[in-house]
Amino acid sequence: MENCLFCKIVDGQIPATVVLQDADWLAFEDIGPKAPVHVLVIPKRHLADIGELGADPEAAAAVVAGIGAVAKQLGLSSYRTVFNTGAEAGQSVFHVHAHVLSGRSLGWPPG
Ligand code: 5GP
Ligand code: ZN
Repeated sequence: MENCLFCKIVDGQIPATVVLQDADWLAFEDIGPKAPVHVLVIPKRHLADIGELGADPEAAAAVVAGIGAVAKQLGLSSYRTVFNTGAEAGQSVFHVHAHVLSGRSLGWPPG
């Protein structure tokens, strides 16, 4: 997808600190971390949001596997996974991404 920031990261046009990846998903550090651990897990294929991800079972399974692999790799026993969907919920990049947050106490319910 042209002009998609995260597609450019997948393509290597924009640098990112990659944590882990496989053929179908990429995990990289968020540029503006909201917790000591803040990793974004994305499908390599462009899908705009969790609705589109849910309609693509292969990509959905890949992203969930990626989240689990990141948690295992980083030794996370507690972490929060967030998919912001839509501008009002805070989605600013319209290539679906899971935020994986850890390393501090995370309040519940979120504000
Ligand atoms: P959203 O607001 O869409 O849920 O999350 C987008 C996330 O992407 C934000 O947490 C933001 O810090 C992160 N982000 C925006 N631009 C870049 C970038 O160029 N590189 C990386 N690694 N993260 C980015
Ligand atoms: Zn994209």
